Amino acid sequence: MFSVKNEVIEAFLEASKNTFPHEFIGLLAGNEKNMAVEELVVVPAVFGETFSQIYLHMLPLSEPIIGTCHSHPSFSNRPSSQDVRTFQKTGTLHLIACRPFSTTSIRAFDQTGREVKIKTV
Ligand SMILES: [Zn+2]
Repeated sequence: MFSVKNEVIEAFLEASKNTFPHEFIGLLAGNEKNMAVEELVVVPAVFGETFSQIYLHMLPLSEPIIGTCHSHPSFSNRPSSQDVRTFQKTGTLHLIACRPFSTTSIRAFDQTGREVKIKTV
């Protein structure tokens, strides 16, 4: 099971609120071998655009990317088919937050779009 730092969850929810009604898109970085997400990487993409606008090779990264996180400006935190296609290309853990962007608004998925459990630390 992946562990996600509390401050990553907090930052993700805060960014999702601030970006509403647009989608927030971020990346999760950390130690994949230990299954530990330690950092939220804010992506230089235009908010409200899709993942296809992310240029990963342009990012100066200190830690490897483990997966993605993004918000839905709706009350559904289920991945769309386009989300799942992105998941398959970008790491192994993916978080989606929906309104009202509280800690219970987040669900985690693997790269096939199947829900997984995470623990916050
Ligand atoms: Zn989505």
